[in-house]
Amino acid sequence: MPAKIPIETSARHIHMSRTDFEFFFGKGAEMTPLRELSQPGQFLAAERLSVLGPKGSFENVAILGPFRPATQIEVSVTDTRQLGLPAVIRQSGDVDGTPGCVLRHTSGRSLEIPQGLMVAKRHIHMTPVDALQMKVKDKDEVFVITESYERSLIYADVVVRVHPNFRLAMHVDTDEANAFVNDHSFGTILKLFDGSTYSLQQWAKELQQGIVRY
Ligand SMILES: [Zn+2]
Repeated sequence: MPAKIPIETSARHIHMSRTDFEFFFGKGAEMTPLRELSQPGQFLAAERLSVLGPKGSFENVAILGPFRPATQIEVSVTDTRQLGLPAVIRQSGDVDGTPGCVLRHTSGRSLEIPQGLMVAKRHIHMTPVDALQMKVKDKDEVFVITESYERSLIYADVVVRVHPNFRLAMHVDTDEANAFVNDHSFGTILKLFDGSTYSLQQWAKELQQGIVRY
């Protein structure tokens, strides 16, 4: 019986360093937790900021706690078009070389962030026990097929993240979620081609050329 993985949608949000947070909310300021998120220890903060790019902006963007070593803004590919910034797909925390943007508070105070705007690489959080059961390990890349709601799809390039503090969930952004269905969705891991999209494309080419391997 393959494990069913709940699929959760991450709307655009900001993770902040303590220094950048204090710039807006004052020395020694702490985030005000509003609600816990599915991953233990993560929470939605009451504080919000606007995200500005050369072409457009988003107001009232949620800040998620706790503090991170570097400020990071996670948006969808559609969002990057509206902001007028390149869509760079990254794993959370890997901010080097990503585009910057401007953060602004309703007070008018604003801060240019030199880098940190990214489209999060789709991923699955799981515990070591989940990983054993699903025969995967940290940083594996897998395919995930969604339950069918007449718009079933298979996600490629899904990275597995294993940590004892994680709770089983696949995270996709709003573009990815809208591509199949919104809520209460589940997916199942398919370990095809060692998770490699390149091998999948090679396989498709061979099939089209009439090459069949047994
Ligand atoms: Zn996540």
